[in-house]
Amino acid sequence: MNKMIQYTKPITINGTDYAIKFVDKVTVDRKECFGCLIPKSISIEIEKDLARPVYIQTMLHEIIHAIELDYCLDFSEEDVDRLASGFASLFRHNPQFIKSLLEEK
Ligand SMILES: [Zn+2]
Repeated sequence: MNKMIQYTKPITINGTDYAIKFVDKVTVDRKECFGCLIPKSISIEIEKDLARPVYIQTMLHEIIHAIELDYCLDFSEEDVDRLASGFASLFRHNPQFIKSLLEEK
């Protein structure tokens, strides 16, 4: 299985720079999970050494939580997962399209 590239620079979501931290273990409410958005430290913790598809799903999941928080939305965990999965599929199957969105003439 492909390993992820650990992207360690901050990522900007709606004008806020979130630090990305790769950690051995992520725990939320005493439950182990792959990632977590931590608003009070403006950071996203991601378990290191996730397989690439799991890493992508987890990063998108936490990014959607950041957007959810920013706009005072109230998604269920399942909806956050569905949105992350939909975006992961969009990115995976349309890399040229995604690239074209970022290109300027
Ligand atoms: Zn979540």
